[in-house]
Amino acid sequence: MKVAVVEGDGIGREVIPVARDVLACVRPDIEFFEVELGYARWERTGTAYDDADLHDLKSADAILFGAVTTPPDPDYRSVLLQLRKGLDLYANLRPVKGEGFDILIVRENTEGLYSGIEWTEADRACTLRVITRRGSRRIARFACARTRSHLTVGNKANVLKSDVLFRDICLEEAARAGVPCTTQFIDSFALDILMHPSRYDCIVTTNIFGDILSDVAAFLVGGLGLLPSANIGDRHALFEPVHGSAPDIAGRNIANPIAAVRSAALLLEHIGEPEAAAQVEGAIKKTIAAGITTPDMGGSATTGSFGSALLANLRTPGRG
Ligand code: ATP
Repeated sequence: MKVAVVEGDGIGREVIPVARDVLACVRPDIEFFEVELGYARWERTGTAYDDADLHDLKSADAILFGAVTTPPDPDYRSVLLQLRKGLDLYANLRPVKGEGFDILIVRENTEGLYSGIEWTEADRACTLRVITRRGSRRIARFACARTRSHLTVGNKANVLKSDVLFRDICLEEAARAGVPCTTQFIDSFALDILMHPSRYDCIVTTNIFGDILSDVAAFLVGGLGLLPSANIGDRHALFEPVHGSAPDIAGRNIANPIAAVRSAALLLEHIGEPEAAAQVEGAIKKTIAAGITTPDMGGSATTGSFGSALLANLRTPGRG
């Protein structure tokens, strides 16, 4: 089992080592290799990412990814968007679990407003929102396969023609799969998910709406430092915290590593180790219950001290 590790920039360099140690603890046979991508590399070499990196990443069974800071370069293309496209990671899974709710947000990851088709003219700048039948169908099928009780399609079909296509294909696929399905306009959805989280099971939506909805839903679980995500394609898979590189707190050893560790747990589930994933979640809960939390959760632990306590709890799951 080969896992590529991309720490990236900012707090990615602080939280990913904790997640990697957790993986090494529960699966000592994993072979890790580092791939350097992002802003720091761009500063040093003038490129943030290239084809050789894609080739290396393709050789891994799974990728553990931190975050990449956007360089101030007008020609810059987001590394993460290029990676999602290059590895065809079309489904972005963002589980949001808490007391009384267990939501799975399935976000289309390769097209929509993040299609990367954009240009600047004299008096305007344009970004093309592309929704394809193929892209909608495969994400709808993916979401239907993960729906436990019902599927909700987040959309803005009352305004956007492209969302009429997306919504209708989702409804069609849900009917075909026998999955109960309703639709909801994304703006009122953002409020309702906060007010009635227990009403939702699996949610499928387009790229930017899924991005925003999952950041909104982070409020339900206590912030961005807690939410993991998986980017899945038919051949490759990349696991990363929902948060970015957080330059404002980088280098201070105060970032919460839970989102990164939970992303590692999603990686374990993906490689067929659900017990190991459950063991990791158990150790997170035990560490929090012992009052060890980083400042974003009201505590005074550092990234490093939280990581050490977590590893100790992982090694002695029976005690405490
Ligand atoms: P990027 O441009 O890379 O997305 P950003 O700073 O715009 O970075 P995030 O990294 O997602 O956006 O973070 C937003 C804010 O949330 C951060 O400024 C930080 O204060 C807080 N935050 C994010 N992740 C964590 C974390 N793991 N622990 C503590 N606080 C966090």
